[in-house]
Amino acid sequence: MKKLVQLPVWSDNYVYVLENDDVTGGAVVVVDPCEAAPVLAWLEHAGRALDAVLCTHHHPDHVGGNLELHERTGCTVVGPERDRDRIPGLTRGVDVGAVFDVGGLGFRVLDVAAHTRGHIAFAFDERIDVVVRHGHAGLASVVAHLAQRPALFVGDSLFGAGCGRLFEGSAEDLHRSLSTLAAEDDDALVCCAHEYTAANLAFAVSVAPHIAAVVARRDGLQQEMGKARSSVPSILGVEKQTNPFLLALHQQIGPQTGDVVARIFDLRRQKDSFRA
Ligand SMILES: [Zn+2]
Repeated sequence: MKKLVQLPVWSDNYVYVLENDDVTGGAVVVVDPCEAAPVLAWLEHAGRALDAVLCTHHHPDHVGGNLELHERTGCTVVGPERDRDRIPGLTRGVDVGAVFDVGGLGFRVLDVAAHTRGHIAFAFDERIDVVVRHGHAGLASVVAHLAQRPALFVGDSLFGAGCGRLFEGSAEDLHRSLSTLAAEDDDALVCCAHEYTAANLAFAVSVAPHIAAVVARRDGLQQEMGKARSSVPSILGVEKQTNPFLLALHQQIGPQTGDVVARIFDLRRQKDSFRA
């Protein structure tokens, strides 16, 4: 059995724990640990050992726990080879397009450079049997409609109904990153690192009030968040119908300027200054 557990950390971060019971003794992989303490507490509570940390990009709220986790558990620290100098404790740099295995769990490395120039995402193609959402003000809850799906660990490249700020990449990078993610399996879980969906949907409705799926997602969000008070992971197929940045790959949304690359870039700029 494979189980995905969300750990709410800081004000709006999520750390993901992927457990694999299909190997002897079990295996545990953690994605984007902003600090070590909540992960160590979970490991102790679950009676588990940590096999690996996966890091999507160098921002402190994604790598802050690397050194302590490696020191305390001896785990492998996997991250983008091209950003080796900025990923603390990196023991296994991976290149875009690589396929690798940790704890019996296989991942593909996707190029989603834009938010930062080294940003990668991890695609996990096997079905995850159990998914637990746990928001910052909610209760850990198994969410049935998220089960039996592959997963994309996207860091800050894609959010519920939004995408990460463009700190280091170009307009072309943002277009390429979104196109790469949009080409993945519609069934896949979008495991992003922040709970930003409500604010992102306010923006989405402001730029796409004519798209019924966007309005319906905004109106149904509180119900979707349930007892867990969490809207993520979401599902890529839902994002493709409601996320303005993915919709803009194929439709006129937001500023009516230029080609698709310019359109998405302008949409990102518009979001930067949007106040609900
Ligand atoms: Zn970031």
